[in-house]
Amino acid sequence: MSRTFFVGGNFKMNGSKDSIKTIVDNLNAAKLPDNVEVVLCPPAAYLNLTADLNKQPNVSVGAQNCYLKESGAYTGEISPLAIKDCGAEWVILGHSERRTIFNESDEFIAEKTKFAVDNGVKVILCIGESIDEKKAGKTLEICKRELSAVIKTVTKDDWNKIVIAYEPIWAIGTGLAATSQDAQDIHHEIRDYLRSEIGEIADSIRILYGGSANGKNAPDFKDKLDVDGFLVGGASLKPEFVNIITSRQ
Ligand code: PGA
Repeated sequence: MSRTFFVGGNFKMNGSKDSIKTIVDNLNAAKLPDNVEVVLCPPAAYLNLTADLNKQPNVSVGAQNCYLKESGAYTGEISPLAIKDCGAEWVILGHSERRTIFNESDEFIAEKTKFAVDNGVKVILCIGESIDEKKAGKTLEICKRELSAVIKTVTKDDWNKIVIAYEPIWAIGTGLAATSQDAQDIHHEIRDYLRSEIGEIADSIRILYGGSANGKNAPDFKDKLDVDGFLVGGASLKPEFVNIITSRQ
């Protein structure tokens, strides 16, 4: 089963018009491979700008969150319809920063995933364990729990519109990435679990690694069969993002 290599850039709450223009201009000027799908996820305020500046055919734009209503009295929230209207196609849901800082539950994330997909926005669904959970040997258990809420809520077909990002919390923003072998092992277990729950479609779902991925370590993951790409935070703001995109060539 060949899965298109996928690289997401999660800018988080960073950037300005100027810095985002620099990032997108840099990507526009690069020779990006045809067999890579890239998604840039700027803060919502810059979705339009990012989509307008982008000239690369294999680069699209994503939001970092959305709500589960089309419109209405939900101050501060963003509808998937508005995301599409701004020229974006994707949304990151379930990022650990949303789960921990904003107390988003597995069920809430699952409902938002379903609503986004139903409204034509594809989802980068983040899962992953904390350092204490890792030390307690609970990595797979946590990933399964976070996934099972989504499995219960979406249809099998919906999985064509979902990419999973395994992002161990202890690796995010710490400079301490998982080893490529550890990532491969857990990605493989995640895929086995998905196969047991939703069948063969599991083989077509991309499972990204996220957590201190950078231009230097990305090539280490090259021969890892279940690592189908990266979700990149800090390094997506820097020129080395191009090296991550080209790391499979
Ligand atoms: P990082 O963040 O690459 O800065 O560790 C990844 C993420 O949170 O998506």
